[in-house]
Amino acid sequence: MKKTIKDIDVAGKRVLLRVDFNVPLDENGIITDDTRIKLELPTIKYLLQQGAKVIVCSHLGRPNGERNSKYSLMPVAKYLVNELLGRVFFVSDCIGDEVEAKVNLLKPGEVLLLENLRFYKEEENNDPIFAQKLAKLADVYVDDAFGTSHRKHASVFGVAKLLPNAVGFLMGKEINGIKSVIENPERPLVAILGGAKVSDKITLLNHLVDKCNTLLIGGGMAYTFLKAKGVEVANSLVDDSKIEVAKQILEKAEQNNVKIVLPVDYLCATEFSPNARAKKFSGNIPAGYQGLDIGPKTIKIFKKEIASANSLIWNGPLGVFEFKNFCKGTMVIAKCVLKFKGKAVVGGGDSVSAIHKVGNTNKIYHVSSGGGASLKLMAGEVLPGVDVIEDL
Ligand code: AMP
Repeated sequence: MKKTIKDIDVAGKRVLLRVDFNVPLDENGIITDDTRIKLELPTIKYLLQQGAKVIVCSHLGRPNGERNSKYSLMPVAKYLVNELLGRVFFVSDCIGDEVEAKVNLLKPGEVLLLENLRFYKEEENNDPIFAQKLAKLADVYVDDAFGTSHRKHASVFGVAKLLPNAVGFLMGKEINGIKSVIENPERPLVAILGGAKVSDKITLLNHLVDKCNTLLIGGGMAYTFLKAKGVEVANSLVDDSKIEVAKQILEKAEQNNVKIVLPVDYLCATEFSPNARAKKFSGNIPAGYQGLDIGPKTIKIFKKEIASANSLIWNGPLGVFEFKNFCKGTMVIAKCVLKFKGKAVVGGGDSVSAIHKVGNTNKIYHVSSGGGASLKLMAGEVLPGVDVIEDL
């Protein structure tokens, strides 16, 4: 168990809070999706109520270590002032004399938002001097940036080593939400895995074959498994270098008594295009075609497996859900996950956006806010930004 902000005394202290305010902005600098800011408010409000001086830092976009007004956090500061918190100050740097001066003026119950950390290349290089300059600003470090916790960056890793530390509410919720379903699920645990490539998800596949009872595989990655089993997949997406890995995973599943369910039918097309005409095939796929979505029989089988579960994990779309002719599999499964009564965890950018499209996700046990970080946590990997935080 990691220390949380409830386990430390922050009253009157300077708290450096690392958040993920990497929000999308339009060409006029208007925030087009404020989800990440809203998720952070409980932690900020709690720290303010406790009388902390809150110094908030984040990255935004990929400015590649150079100052670039396009990636300024100023719009986020305005958003915080106007919409939510009132006493918010902004400083156009994240280290140095001007920042230190503004921190010294900060009173308990006030917020200072620093400028984009990634205006310094030292941030992503986990530079120890940059980490020291950040640490100098505060008495305590709080990490609530789950979306960057898999990165060994100065504001995530280096600085945590230099200050007493804890995780914020969002980090705590992400860690507990994902771990409780993978490590200690009410069985049967069914995992639904999709997405483009096997190569991106080998660790996750291997981990899930040790943890779950049933594994439903869809999306582009299914065709590597189907090919490994001798099915003709024609022009479908296949990681030829991962056929052996797929065979090993299938064998491991058999040894572990884990049921792997692959698609039995598919919606295919002769071209990878949003306007391609969908044609349905079962079993082998004829030459010239590629599978772009799971077919109706597969949807029925997957729905039945989901209905038999008491816990659920979903990561990755079941087809090319960006194309209207090939989104059905993903959307039907998203609706099933939405209605699921047990504990369900949804991770990965595409699955999360699909589930938001089909309805209100409030009743889902955990919808993760971190793409890469949730994939790694689900795969049982160590996240440097979590590992570095003190244990209770
Ligand atoms: P990932 O980032 O690995 O979760 O992959 C997500 C991407 O996989 C999405 O952009 C989907 O369009 C793509 N995808 C899903 N199914 C297929 C498929 N059958 N063929 C090609 N791409 C797919």
